[in-house]
Amino acid sequence: MSKKCSICESEIKGFGNNPQPIIKDNKKLTVNDRCCDDCNLSIVLPARYAVSENVFAQKMVNVLTSGKRINEVSSKTLNQRG
Ligand SMILES: [Zn+2]
Repeated sequence: MSKKCSICESEIKGFGNNPQPIIKDNKKLTVNDRCCDDCNLSIVLPARYAVSENVFAQKMVNVLTSGKRINEVSSKTLNQRG
């Protein structure tokens, strides 16, 4: 059985990952959604980190899911820490 990533819609290999707290199309993804390893590393983990640090929180999550400049945005945002 293959599932689609809730974020980038590629096919997920393996079990997938919990995409929370990502917001896609103004809908909060839930634990019932799955995301691929790529999105987990490049979007979900930085977003989760930002939320836990209370840095930009929701705003950043929306930015991360809104376009192709994911890596650029996330590295820039992470570099702003401290
Ligand atoms: Zn994905």
